[in-house]
Amino acid sequence: MFDFDRTLTTFYVTKPSPSAPAAGGGGTGGTGGAVKWRGQCSYSILESAGLLSPEYTTKNAKLFATYYPIEIHPKLEFSYKFGKMHEWWTAANQLQIESRVNRSYLTPSVRACLECVNPKSAMSIRARVPQVLSHLSANRIPVLVFTAGVADIVSEALIQTNNWHDSNMHVLGNKMIFDTETGALTSFHPHIIHSYNKSYDSIRRSQFGQSAEHKRRRKVIIIGDALHDAEMMRGCETESAGGEPNEPFDIIRIGLLDDSDPKIMAHFEEYKSHFDVVIMGDQSLHFVESLITDITGTAGTATATTTATATTTITAAAPPPVSVTITAAANSTDSK
Ligand SMILES: [Mg+2]
Repeated sequence: MFDFDRTLTTFYVTKPSPSAPAAGGGGTGGTGGAVKWRGQCSYSILESAGLLSPEYTTKNAKLFATYYPIEIHPKLEFSYKFGKMHEWWTAANQLQIESRVNRSYLTPSVRACLECVNPKSAMSIRARVPQVLSHLSANRIPVLVFTAGVADIVSEALIQTNNWHDSNMHVLGNKMIFDTETGALTSFHPHIIHSYNKSYDSIRRSQFGQSAEHKRRRKVIIIGDALHDAEMMRGCETESAGGEPNEPFDIIRIGLLDDSDPKIMAHFEEYKSHFDVVIMGDQSLHFVESLITDITGTAGTATATTTATATTTITAAAPPPVSVTITAAANSTDSK
């Protein structure tokens, strides 16, 4: 089970940019070499592609200023935050509808983001993600990409990068609903997924969660970059395995931590308590690949089949492009 934003994608995107400014707009560096930009999230791609009005930007910024402090506030009650996050996502979705988003916007805006046409809106798939997803497909292991972002944008990014496997992949997120004739965005799926209900209750309601095959499974690996991603299976304890006596879930939680951001590093101890493994920095998924290879006992070679026009053969035999630093959590037996 993967989060998408800054999990299957990187925290930062680095591009050669000799003429880039020294800093600004989220970029750093740029003194004649490379410039590093914060990776874009799925909810912001249409806006950063310049497809939404300045009025949208103003209103969206106001929503962020109102609700983000609530989302990250350490002392507010969970139930209060839950309600406020529902409010935020509802208002943000309504804003996109009022901004006359069209289905035709998705493909070019995602492509521009992946190609880093505008470095302020850049997205890059994390290293070793293709190998991990191919290996899971080859071994018929279900993959749920569970996001509080826009499901349609996430699917588009995975398809465009040849990381979509029809046979075993599912995206669960905020689903756009378009007018079948005009392509206009008319609504979102009524079950909104936000940062505080990104949990088993949302999975249980989904088509993926209703599948008898998935209900039987009791071994789960969770990979995400936010603290709340560790809770993606919260509530699973009450799930019955198809009428059989309940068998407890075995869950491994792997966290990706942006150690270059002091605001995130301030939560380092929480990451260690929430996740079984914490991978420091913007590194590859080599550890995840090794773990899955150990579990399946097979080499990581597979052919990717995608809904995109191109079919790519991916071989996971190369060494990891970067070293991986892993901090084992102290309470790895935690059963949250
Ligand atoms: Mg994320």
